Amino acid sequence: MGVSMTILGSGSAGNSIYIEAGESRVLVDAGLSARQLRERLALIGRSPETLSAILISHEHNDHIRGLKGIADKLGIPVYCNGATRDAIREILDTSLNLHVFHNGATFSIGDIDVHPFSVPHDAQDPVGFLDPNSKPNRGNYYGPGTRDNTGHGTHSHS
Ligand SMILES: [Zn+2]
Repeated sequence: MGVSMTILGSGSAGNSIYIEAGESRVLVDAGLSARQLRERLALIGRSPETLSAILISHEHNDHIRGLKGIADKLGIPVYCNGATRDAIREILDTSLNLHVFHNGATFSIGDIDVHPFSVPHDAQDPVGFLDPNSKPNRGNYYGPGTRDNTGHGTHSHS
């Protein structure tokens, strides 16, 4: 199964990565504004309406800024762990339906396997997600304080 990946934003201005495999379309983090996310998805011929899910690594603003405007409005399912869910609900003041995953437990969103695992970062319970393009144990993953497989840091706020 071919997996394609596009970095929509990185750094303190907002982090978001688009991943597509088969019919499955996922955002890892939604740290750009809803409008920016829409514009950047449009550049690759996609729209927020067709997203299968949004995965959230942790609750910092540069990872969830656009979450309400995309997920709430369009009813896109959001996945995060329990501590991050509680933090997001408080920060965004939303009753957004957040699906809970457990660190270390692999799950699937259609054709995309998701491997969340705990990483060190100053948030409630931050996770990285293994890069589905990489072979096991290559260590490429997305999340706070990590690097993606293009060598660009995906997270740089202090
Ligand atoms: Zn952070």
